[in-house]
Amino acid sequence: MDTHAFTNVGLLKLLENANIGVVIHGADTTVIYANPTALRLLRLSYDQIIGKDALDPQWRFIDEQGIPLPPSEYPVNRALHSDNAVRDQTLGVTDSSNPDVVWFSVNAYVERQQANENGFVIVSFVDITDRKSEFSFADILHNTQDIVIVTEAEDVDAPFGPKVVYVNKAFESLTGFSADEIIGETPRLLQGKDTSAETKKNIRAALDAKKPCREKILNYTKTGTPYWLDLSIIPLTNRYGEVTHFAAIERDITQSTYYSERLEQRNSDLKVMREELELIIKDRTEQLRQKNAELQRLAYDDHMTGLPNRKAFFQLAETQLTRTQRHNQICAVAILDIDFFKAINDNFGHDEGDKTIIAVAKTIRDSLRAEDACGRIGGEEFAMAIVAESSQSAPLLFERVRQNIAAQTLSMSHGGITVSIGYVQAISSTNLNLTQLMGLADKALYSAKNDGRNKVSVYQIQSEI
Ligand code: GH3
Ligand code: MG
Ligand code: MG
Repeated sequence: MDTHAFTNVGLLKLLENANIGVVIHGADTTVIYANPTALRLLRLSYDQIIGKDALDPQWRFIDEQGIPLPPSEYPVNRALHSDNAVRDQTLGVTDSSNPDVVWFSVNAYVERQQANENGFVIVSFVDITDRKSEFSFADILHNTQDIVIVTEAEDVDAPFGPKVVYVNKAFESLTGFSADEIIGETPRLLQGKDTSAETKKNIRAALDAKKPCREKILNYTKTGTPYWLDLSIIPLTNRYGEVTHFAAIERDITQSTYYSERLEQRNSDLKVMREELELIIKDRTEQLRQKNAELQRLAYDDHMTGLPNRKAFFQLAETQLTRTQRHNQICAVAILDIDFFKAINDNFGHDEGDKTIIAVAKTIRDSLRAEDACGRIGGEEFAMAIVAESSQSAPLLFERVRQNIAAQTLSMSHGGITVSIGYVQAISSTNLNLTQLMGLADKALYSAKNDGRNKVSVYQIQSEI
C-alpha cells in the first residue's frame, strides 16, 4: 500500500472525527496536538492543553490501586524512555474540577521519521470508566470495615519512617486522624508507650526483607486511646516486580482481645460457680427429698402415734383387700376402740390419755406382721386389715392384740386399760367393698361394747364364711 495515498485520505480529518482520544506530544512531552475526543475525555479546552507538558499539576494520574503514578510511569514518559510501545495501560485521571476518577486504557508510542530524530509521542486512549465502575476495587477498599494504609516502600529505615500515601475511611474513624493529617507522615505516629518493641522489630524486619507479615499490635488514636490491631502487611510491586509500596490491612480487635482475657477469667469463675452450684443443687435436692418425705409422713402418718392415719389406712387396706381377693385368701378387717377412755382423760388427765393412745398404737403394731395394715382412724379408735391363713387365724390374732394391750398398759398410772375389737372376714366371693366391710366391723365392735367390752366380736357373714 502506498503510504502517501493513505496520507491523502486525510489523516487529520480522521483524527478530528475518531472516537478515540489522541494526544501528540513533542519529544519534550509538551502537547502539540489533541483531537476533539481527547479534549472531551480530559474535560479540557484546546487552549488548556496545548503547550502544557505531561508534568502539569492538573494532570493527576493514579494506578488501579488508587496510588498516584510517578511521572516516570506516565505513558508518554514510558514510551519515550523505553522506546517500546505502551499497550493498554489502565490509569485513572483526576483533575481539580472533579474528584471522580476517569479511567482510561492508554496506548503510546514514539513516532520518528528517522532513527536519530527526537520525534513525537502519539498517545491514544479510550474511556473505560463505565467498564471499571461496574465494581471498583478502590471503592471497596475505601469503604471496607477493615483499616487500609498504604505507605511508600522507601525510607523504612529513615528516622521518620515510610510515608503514608493512602488511608481509607475506616482508618479515619478508628484513629481520629483525617487522611490529610496522616498522608505524608509515618504510621509510627500511631504507636505508643505500650506498643511492644518486639512486635515493632518483627514488622521492621519484614519491611526490610520486603516480605508480608502479620502481627497483633497496640496502637493509639489521635487522642491517645489504645486499641489492638490484627495487622497484615503486604508488599505491593510495580510492573517490574519491584516493591514500591506496602499495604497494611488492619482489623480492630480491641473488643475480642479484651474479651479473650476476660473469657479466661470468666471460665475459671464459671468453673468455681458450677462446682458451688452442684453442691447447692445436691444440698437442695436432699432438702427437697427430706421435705417430701416429711410431707408424705404428715399426709399419711398420724402425728401422735406414728401409725398410718385414717386416709393412709384406707389405702393400705384397699391394697390388702385386692391382693387377698386375687389370691383367694381371707382378709379380716377390724376396728378397735379403747374402753371407757373418757374416764382416763377425766381421771388422769389428757396427757395420760395421749400416752395411753401411743402405747395402744405401739402394741397393735408390734402384735401384727409387717404385711398387715393398721392405722389410727379416730381419737382412740384403730383399724387393722390382715391376711388370714384360715378362718381361725383372725380371731386368734385379734384376741392376742386385745390381751397384749391389756398387759402392756398395766404398768401405767391408771393401772391398765382394755379394748374392744369388732371384725369381719371377707373372701373374693364376698363382693363387699372396704367401706361396707368397715361398716360391718363397726357393727361387731358395737356388739362387743354392748356385750360388756374387753372383747373381740365378729360380724358373721353367714352364707360365705
Ligand atoms: P366406750 O368407747 O367404752 O364406749 O367409752 P369411751 O369413754 O371410750 O367413749 P368414746 O369412745 O365415746 O370416747 C372417746 C373419748 O376419747 C372422747 C375423747 O375425749 C377422747 N379422745 C379422743 N381423741 C383423743 C386424743 O387424741 N387424746 C386424748 N387424751 N383423748 C382423746
Ligand atoms: Mg370411741
Ligand atoms: Mg372408746
